[in-house]
Amino acid sequence: MFIVFGWRTAARRVAMLSLLCHVCRQQAAHPLDKLTKKFTLFFIPVLPLSTTYQLTCVACGTSQPVMKDAAEQLIAHPDSFTTAAAALGDPPVPTV
Ligand SMILES: [Zn+2]
Repeated sequence: MFIVFGWRTAARRVAMLSLLCHVCRQQAAHPLDKLTKKFTLFFIPVLPLSTTYQLTCVACGTSQPVMKDAAEQLIAHPDSFTTAAAALGDPPVPTV
């Protein structure tokens, strides 16, 4: 008898933000995705193992992990952030 088990990560879009990317310096859409890793038994998701959030710039493709608290702030107040760095909690980058 075989037991088939493993894990799978499912992504769900929770917000779409317009932010200034700190990598490519463009105002672009940044989808915020919730990634849930689940234990599977016979390819059926059974038990959630971990949940992370990821912010991706559609202009340059840079993805960065977002802490849960910051992700909840982004979901609750999507218009309060203008830069991806501020949304991620990084200190502002000085401009020359
Ligand atoms: Zn970018």
